[in-house]
Amino acid sequence: MVDTSKCPCGSSIHYNDCCKAFHQGEKIAETAELLMRSRYSAYVKNNKDYLLETWHVSTRPDVNEFELDSNSEFRWLELEVIKTEAGTERDTEGFVYFQATYRFQGKTGKMQEASKFVKEDGKWFYIDGASE
Ligand SMILES: [Zn+2]
Repeated sequence: MVDTSKCPCGSSIHYNDCCKAFHQGEKIAETAELLMRSRYSAYVKNNKDYLLETWHVSTRPDVNEFELDSNSEFRWLELEVIKTEAGTERDTEGFVYFQATYRFQGKTGKMQEASKFVKEDGKWFYIDGASE
């Protein structure tokens, strides 16, 4: 079972002490991995604004076309960051390899992706992801 008191990003601390500050703009993700985790939480929390804000302008979907999957049969269960490449405070580019577990129509599935991030003006942005 998924413990809903914990932040969806898998940090094992409460959402209020974790990704909430990113989602509310009180804190900036200092690494690509933190941004990745906060974006995953935003998917779980249906926070469309945060996802668009942290999407690089070159690949960001149109605000009117970007819809989160409101299918009640689909649910994200768990995020696991497998590895990162660069993406630290000192970098301007980084990759995060992760596996996300979801439940769809009563079945559990996994998706793996390598997400690319860039940092501009001190902020990390999501560029795109390649399925593994
Ligand atoms: Zn979190």
